[in-house]
Amino acid sequence: MLSGKVALVTGAGRGIGRAIALTLAGYGADVAVNYSGSKEAAEKTADEIRALGRRAIAVRADISKEEECAELFQRVQQELGVVDILVNNAGITRDGLAVRMTEQEFDAVIDTNLKGAFFCMKLAGKQMMKKRSGRIISISSISGVRGNAGQINYCAAKAGLIGMTKCLAKELAGRSITVNAVAPGYIDTDMTAVLPEKVKEAVLAQVPLGSMGRPEDIAEAVAFLASEHARYITGQVLSVDGGMGI
Ligand code: NAP
Repeated sequence: MLSGKVALVTGAGRGIGRAIALTLAGYGADVAVNYSGSKEAAEKTADEIRALGRRAIAVRADISKEEECAELFQRVQQELGVVDILVNNAGITRDGLAVRMTEQEFDAVIDTNLKGAFFCMKLAGKQMMKKRSGRIISISSISGVRGNAGQINYCAAKAGLIGMTKCLAKELAGRSITVNAVAPGYIDTDMTAVLPEKVKEAVLAQVPLGSMGRPEDIAEAVAFLASEHARYITGQVLSVDGGMGI
């Protein structure tokens, strides 16, 4: 389904990003595995992709820094080729009630989750425009669609990602590049493992399908949007949330 394509997945050493990288490789793509701190995990993901018979590199870059994003794209182009599929997955949380949140906590989340995606969209967009094809998929969140108490920074970033997706979809449609977002619900990763038990129970009670999602559930949705099957879909937000958003 994705043979001959080069994918770049940000934050792909662990969690949802890792599942996306492995799933895209499983469908035939060569994959650049970006990480910021988890070198060992990213190298392991890259090794597993190579074991599937695809090309892979692990590349360190803090995506909140524009110059590091530029270096990341340069390395991917040199070693794997022009990026056909960009997945903006890297993200962090700094939760707290709005009235107590510091400027640093607000900025940290915006810088990684929103500005980092913007830098990568810009760099990928330039390459894809020349090629007149491409797929840009960003991992938003149900929090960006519905809002969530204690996450004003995260909700702003994730809602902003949806706005950027719609804007870029219109800007790039003329070059046959599609731009979409996936909005996960409550997925079993390190990000949710740290939540207090009471919060976990309360969130789970809001999921009609009655269980947490797996990183692979998000990865399959991303693979579909990255494929030729989704050629006529752009500017959309696909919820993968067990019905939480209904
Ligand atoms: P996770 O397990 O905490 O993983 C976060 C990933 O982001 C890590 O690979 C991390 O890499 C990377 N990252 C963080 N800051 C970075 C930076 N500055 N530069 C490059 N990479 C960076 O989280 P996850 O649950 O897999 O989440 C993945 C995405 O899905 C996030 O955007 C998150 O907001 C979104 N999401 C998750 C859920 C959920 O329930 N889990 C729900 C909705 C949306 P390093 O370890 O190398 O720093």
